[in-house]
Amino acid sequence: MARRKKIYEGKAKIIYEGPEPGTIVQYFKDDATAFNAQKKDVIEGKGVLNNRLSEFFMTGLNQIGVPTHFVKRLNMREQLCRQVEIVPLEVIVRNYAAGTMSQRLGIEEGTQLPRPIVEYCYKDDSLGDPLVTEEHIAAFGWASQQDMDDILSLALRVNDFLSGVMMAVGIRLVDFKIEIGRVYDGDFQRLIVADEISPDSCRLWDMETNEKLDKDVFRRDLGSLTDAYTEVATRLGVMPKNATPITKPTLIN
Ligand code: 5GP
Repeated sequence: MARRKKIYEGKAKIIYEGPEPGTIVQYFKDDATAFNAQKKDVIEGKGVLNNRLSEFFMTGLNQIGVPTHFVKRLNMREQLCRQVEIVPLEVIVRNYAAGTMSQRLGIEEGTQLPRPIVEYCYKDDSLGDPLVTEEHIAAFGWASQQDMDDILSLALRVNDFLSGVMMAVGIRLVDFKIEIGRVYDGDFQRLIVADEISPDSCRLWDMETNEKLDKDVFRRDLGSLTDAYTEVATRLGVMPKNATPITKPTLIN
């Protein structure tokens, strides 16, 4: 069998050429990184959970008419997606202060914001994904004004959807990051949600206890990341209750 072509390897995923032109296969690794990869570990089962969770969120978005790159899940760790040109921005939506917003502005973590606040970071690991304004984005040609209108609308629709889905299972959507891809249909281009949506890219807090159920568990050494992600997956019905813990296959003599 021919070896498939790797297009790109990131910190948490590998992108392979897909079976048809215009498609890719996204492989979810178990690698966890934080602070621009200064902190690293392998968390067994994380890739499987994120594959399932991202499938769940992207499918839900597709169903309510928010376009995403997701086509179908292929197996435990891989999904088929539309190939996109990634807009070089991380689009962050915040409902409550946390993380870098709290650090930058001195607002206590967990403070409810007067309305969802959308921020943009320039996607460049070597620079640590710096926060940028729409002025930078326009001046450097990373996205047009029409693109920015579309990106804002996509980001707020994703926020409404995700907040509702999470609230229904007792989880507060504090903030999240999405990436946006450009696709071409004939002469027309449009923007769709790409990359992944998972507890790696969201802050998710239990509504009653404020327990963290996201990558901050890894960033801040708060316990088992697999347990936290499994809790999210179980509450959402993505994984059955009492599912066998996700571990690598073991050899039986
Ligand atoms: P902060 O700016 O507070 O570090 O992050 C805001 C939100 O965006 C958090 O939910 C965080 O997980 C997500 N986020 C920001 N940058 C990245 C990134 O480079 N990778 C991932 N997976 N998520 C990010």
